[in-house]
Amino acid sequence: MRSSISLGRIGGVPVGLNVSVLVIVVILVVGLAFGRFPIAFPGLPTAAYVLAALVSAVLFLASLLAHELAHAIVARRHGVEVTGITLWLLGGVAQLRGEPRSPAADLKIAGVGPLTSVVLGGFFALVTWGVSAVGGPALVSGMFGYLAVVNVLLAVFNLIPAAPLDGGRVLRAFLWARWGDRLRAAVAAARAGRVFGYTLIILGFLNLVSGLGFQGLWLALIGLFLVNAASAEEQQTQIDAALHGIKVAEVMSRQPITAQPDETVAGLIDRLVLRHHLSTYPLVDDDGRFAGLVTLGRIRAVDPARREATALREIACPPPDVPSARPDDLLTELLQRMSGSTDGRAVVLDDGRIVGLVTPSDISRTIQTVDLRAREPYRTPRGADLAPHPPGGPSAGDSRPGDPTSGGPSSGGPASSGTVRSTGRRDAA
Ligand SMILES: [Zn+2]
Repeated sequence: MRSSISLGRIGGVPVGLNVSVLVIVVILVVGLAFGRFPIAFPGLPTAAYVLAALVSAVLFLASLLAHELAHAIVARRHGVEVTGITLWLLGGVAQLRGEPRSPAADLKIAGVGPLTSVVLGGFFALVTWGVSAVGGPALVSGMFGYLAVVNVLLAVFNLIPAAPLDGGRVLRAFLWARWGDRLRAAVAAARAGRVFGYTLIILGFLNLVSGLGFQGLWLALIGLFLVNAASAEEQQTQIDAALHGIKVAEVMSRQPITAQPDETVAGLIDRLVLRHHLSTYPLVDDDGRFAGLVTLGRIRAVDPARREATALREIACPPPDVPSARPDDLLTELLQRMSGSTDGRAVVLDDGRIVGLVTPSDISRTIQTVDLRAREPYRTPRGADLAPHPPGGPSAGDSRPGDPTSGGPSSGGPASSGTVRSTGRRDAA
């Protein structure tokens, strides 16, 4: 999950919005301003409803952010690096890199998010009560009532014991403490996540066919996300377990065949490609320094008529964009850097000089041959904080005028906040 709109740093953690979060904001504002609020508090000017809806949306996003920040702060306190927080379509994500070292740390990092949401829910409930007590406008107390319920829903939904939700992390911590096996616990939590995801998809589908269209669509969307995230997490956990503790030097292809940046594409094909059947050729300049990476894919992309005239330098992936490692680095750390890289290959450098390559076939060969190694797994998987309902949309008949909370919460807390897998995703609100 990439942030497309940066909100700067909070406590050193980069915070951003993915554009998809705007979908939530629009649904929330429209649903509240033209659905919930006018039904619950009739007789006010439209501008009042729109303003209240906008404030609700901003405070909702702030609540989500607080949830994620809580994950981030506690993660850091337990030595887990936090690379960023992103709010997106289905909630929030705190990107964690590293592993909680104990079930207790795992539990605290996961539990503090929902705890924060519950505390916020209590706070907004108090404000609701306060506004009513001093005879404030019903719309204002209704707005805070909505936020109170949405925050509590956020906490409750994300506590469902299904990874990558916070509750899945709590389940993992509990099983880890009980079994003493982090891998087994993580796999069990991920499987629970997948089962829950499929359940939501089925529920969403039933909702759709029974005419509750939008709510059903939202549930199915969340279910789909959970199934995908949980499956990826299970797979990732197993790979991490298999590769844990392995150094890059043990895996890399040594002394790779190199080419010169000024050599032409045609020259490389004649000299090396047809002879060695390799997929990756690092470029090395006259001083022996790494100067870029050429892959078969990049060679094939050159028009055959232009092969004579094209220098390898022109088609190479430039050094800053190529993931690199030193021989003593851990393979799992390099893999994190490689995920999302253009060519899926890394160079191993020693003092700027290339000493090896790590390609997809090196990695799959390693995975296939390491099952006998002692396993001691687990990089923090992704998490996600998800919003249990579509936000704000008026749904037939469940809004009772005069009930200050009817304007909002039942119509749905939008997104979720999440902590993401070490590599990536973590919870969805
Ligand atoms: Zn969370």
